[in-house]
Amino acid sequence: MPDYDVIVVGAGNAALAASVAARNAGAERVLVLEKAPEAMRGGNTHYSGGLLRIAFDRVDEILHLVPKARELPGFVEGIEAYPRDAFMADLKRMTANRTDPELAEILVANSYATASWMADQGIRFEPAISLGAVRVGNLIKWPKGAIIRAVHEGVGLSRMWFTAAERKGVTIRYGAAATRLVLDGAGRVCGVAVRDATGLHEVAGRAIVLGCGGFEANAAWRAQYLGRPWDHAKVRGTPHNQGDGLRMACEIGAMPWGQWSGCHATPINAEAPPFGDRQLTDKTNRLSYPYGVMINRAGLRFVDEGEDQAFFTYAKFGGIILNQPGGVAYQIFDSKVRHLLEPRYATSDPIAAASLAELVDRIDVDREAARRTLEQYNAAAGEGLFNPGDRDGLATRGLALGKSNWAQRLDTPPFLAWPVTGGITFSFGGLKINDRAQVVGTNWEPIAGLYTCGEMVGGLFHSNYPGGSGLMSGAVFGRIAGASAARDGK
Ligand SMILES: Cc1cc2nc3c(=O)[nH]c(=O)nc-3n(C[C@H](O)[C@H](O)[C@H](O)COP(=O)(O)OP(=O)(O)OC[C@H]3O[C@@H](n4cnc5c(N)ncnc54)[C@H](O)[C@@H]3O)c2cc1C
Repeated sequence: MPDYDVIVVGAGNAALAASVAARNAGAERVLVLEKAPEAMRGGNTHYSGGLLRIAFDRVDEILHLVPKARELPGFVEGIEAYPRDAFMADLKRMTANRTDPELAEILVANSYATASWMADQGIRFEPAISLGAVRVGNLIKWPKGAIIRAVHEGVGLSRMWFTAAERKGVTIRYGAAATRLVLDGAGRVCGVAVRDATGLHEVAGRAIVLGCGGFEANAAWRAQYLGRPWDHAKVRGTPHNQGDGLRMACEIGAMPWGQWSGCHATPINAEAPPFGDRQLTDKTNRLSYPYGVMINRAGLRFVDEGEDQAFFTYAKFGGIILNQPGGVAYQIFDSKVRHLLEPRYATSDPIAAASLAELVDRIDVDREAARRTLEQYNAAAGEGLFNPGDRDGLATRGLALGKSNWAQRLDTPPFLAWPVTGGITFSFGGLKINDRAQVVGTNWEPIAGLYTCGEMVGGLFHSNYPGGSGLMSGAVFGRIAGASAARDGK
């Protein structure tokens, strides 16, 4: 008899959702293998903002998840419905229509039900007030669909998942890395080889769920699949997501799926550490650039900072910044908008100056070009009403590279500059799965006994990503993978 009904590899949001779902679906013996030591447990989930993108039709559906938010002044009034077709349209727009339609449908259609299910498992939520929300008069304007997060963000989400799994009687082994999938004579996955402090062992299981992240922390894989200069990128999260699960699955014939040359990367503090800091977590993000401009070392702007709200551009702008000279850029604001900057800007000191010319003198850029860029930007800045809560159409006129929204003049001292680089969050390339989250082989047949979820699922995201979709995808496919594996494991 196998040692376990279901073995789950990894201990982030997706894997722990799978472990709980497996127990709920009747698997009696469920094992979670976590490569990291206990003090480093929880994968990228620990470092995340805990934000979930959810489709919903009525405000009371959101209030069901965050009942206390009713008392928050301006909360209810500032929320707009985010129906399923709006979530789907965002996914398609972000990915240039490349999102896998079947997976996208599963993600969108199950988002609200899965968030409710998470609440039933003991995951508590709160309004994600310090992320994309801005106060406009008496209203809190929410980025559509990205309204709630786990209490205490990723740190809280991870902790609550471990508590939920332990309460369900899931066995968790720390410092236990899966190194290989074990097959029986019929080609069915029937266990994993594990390396831990005591050596190498094989653990037998009726079904295996891989939830062990992408390859974002592996410099060689980044060089191989993403190309230069990604091997030099700072990693925003765990050092443990090295592509182990992808390698193990591909070794036994799993089909790679999705955009292997793509990843999620965001503008972060240029001084951020090489891997995520467990206390700072996602506070190195610098996402208020729509209200200012960004220039590179050549003194030039290089993106339309106001193309859309940050949650629709941040995941691609990180990579564009990393590809600028030296991998850095400066975000420049004037004091009119300082109150709109996300609170996480306070985790590093800006360079400040009384004039734009002086500011340019203090940063590491081609000064003449930078002055010219800022003068041209100011001359082209829009006229009309600035509305930080929505795309306001306040666009520059006549610039070769325009700014489409929020293009106010930079005219109110002191002027502020934050140096940023692009930090990788997670890789987009993954494995092909079916609607049961079962891994599909290169023969287009499901691989018996093998399931996957989370960052390891390929096909959903290409080149860009709507904020809050990673955790939602992890929970949706984790829940499906765990329940499917439990049925296999009986
Ligand atoms: C700074 C930051 C902020 C983010 N903010 C958000 C947000 O607000 N909203 C959102 O939707 N997404 C966010 N994301 C993305 C999101 O956190 C991840 O996509 C998501 O947590 C991935 O979940 P996962 O379970 O697939 O992987 P992870 O949470 O990374 O878990 C992978 C697990 O596998 C383990 N592991 C790896 N290899 C092995 C092995 N060989 N054997 C055993 N275990 C192994 C790891 O140690 C880890 O426990 C953020 C990410 C970062 C880094």
